[in-house]
Amino acid sequence: MEVIIEQIVVYGLVFIFCGIVLLIYLRKHKKKTRETEKKVAIAKEEGLFEPVSLHPYIDLNVCIGSAACVSACPEKDIIGIADGKATLINSSNCVGHGACFHSCPVEAISLRMGTEKRGVDLPHVNQNFETNVRGIYIAGELGGMGLIRNSVEQGQQAIDSIVKSKKPNNQGVLDVIIIGAGPAGISATLACKKHKLKSVTLEQDSLGGTVYTFPRSKIVMTSPMNLPLFGKVKLYDTSKDELLQLWTRVIHDHEIEIKEQHKVENIVPQSDDTFKVVAANGEEFIGNNVLIAIGRRGSPRKLNIPGEESTKVAYRLLEPERISGKEVVVVGGGDSAIEAALMLMELNNVRQVVRTDTLTRCKPKNREKISKAADEGKVTMMFSSNLISISETHCLIKTEGEDEALEVRNDLVYIFAGGIMPTAFLEKPGIKITKRFGYIMKKHD
Ligand SMILES: Cc1cc2nc3c(=O)[nH]c(=O)nc-3n(C[C@H](O)[C@H](O)[C@H](O)COP(=O)(O)OP(=O)(O)OC[C@H]3O[C@@H](n4cnc5c(N)ncnc54)[C@H](O)[C@@H]3O)c2cc1C
Repeated sequence: MEVIIEQIVVYGLVFIFCGIVLLIYLRKHKKKTRETEKKVAIAKEEGLFEPVSLHPYIDLNVCIGSAACVSACPEKDIIGIADGKATLINSSNCVGHGACFHSCPVEAISLRMGTEKRGVDLPHVNQNFETNVRGIYIAGELGGMGLIRNSVEQGQQAIDSIVKSKKPNNQGVLDVIIIGAGPAGISATLACKKHKLKSVTLEQDSLGGTVYTFPRSKIVMTSPMNLPLFGKVKLYDTSKDELLQLWTRVIHDHEIEIKEQHKVENIVPQSDDTFKVVAANGEEFIGNNVLIAIGRRGSPRKLNIPGEESTKVAYRLLEPERISGKEVVVVGGGDSAIEAALMLMELNNVRQVVRTDTLTRCKPKNREKISKAADEGKVTMMFSSNLISISETHCLIKTEGEDEALEVRNDLVYIFAGGIMPTAFLEKPGIKITKRFGYIMKKHD
């Protein structure tokens, strides 16, 4: 009898213990789900839920909710766990590291472009990086696969293909015209020098591409890669400055010129199989081949107003902490404009010029912050207004309903009027583009 009671007690204790463990597990599970659902709701509200580029696709029939993908992702809150399965959160912030893809123990993740609802334009490129237009090549993120290392590799592989294509070496004609000086364009430029090809590299902005626009404090994650004329670059977690310095040094050491501030507006196929490449400043270049390495971020939209070419005008804010005591005009009502105004307002006199009568195209949090700043007199908001001209010392701003434009003292202008995507630019010379809905870029075989 005693033994039976003892057994009942032991079994009872084990049962209670298991029950408590299960309860703790279920509560944790529920809490995690609630947290993820909350983040998803915010991401939807802020327009960050729907992926815009390369992103993970989770096969829910295969996912076991190990959360390996969550811990592997170096960016914050791209994936979370809800109801025991992985789910996307701020997927439009995904930069395509693919760490989730490799970490999943049951291979439930593939990397895709576009979703069922939102298509993404992808140019047609073959395994040699050549488009359907013979002699025009595409490398780097524009072709679909991002990341610094991939772009560096593709840049040189595209040049290797051009070397093999053996187009005739006409006098006065360049072998390759490279458009864009991000990781892909830089690597292609070095590969041209290595192969003794006659080339020119045209960059609308500054050397470094998207990397140049990273915040100074960002940790750039990459893996060892081969850079032509340099060899193996053994970097893992590095800084923007270290990468830019490396690229600049190699380019300088080999006496290569990259033509910065040269935006390419047009690629015109010629009857003799060459291409005329036309820059915005009117310069023209003739080449046997063109390598387009312009990434997927497009070109900033300009206002086309008098004075916009001034050096005091910029389309991005790189180091706000270095700007103080200035009269600043920020144009735009989106998140980039608001965030710029918020960063500059403490040390400068900031005026934000917004075309619409309210802020509608921004995250609710940003709207709240800028409204509060305006109420506190830290920033001057000008709604229903347009910047109409820029002079060395002043700006003219016209507000709807006012007879006369307002002239304000001004040192710096930041314009955030959105970007022009490269689709039309690519289609002009005949490159085929297809809208892809959930196109699989990488999957487990
Ligand atoms: C916030 C963020 C964080 C990231 N973090 C990482 C990271 O940690 N590690 C990593 O590996 N990757 C990261 N990436 C991705 C990486 O930056 C890109 O995949 C990579 O820069 C793509 O290289 P690219 O040469 O193809 O294009 P880009 O770097 O985009 O360069 C394209 C260049 O072409 C120029 N251009 C465009 N149009 C024209 C034109 N008409 N005429 C002339 N020039 C033109 C642009 O000005 C630009 O300089 C990140 C991206 C973002 C946005």
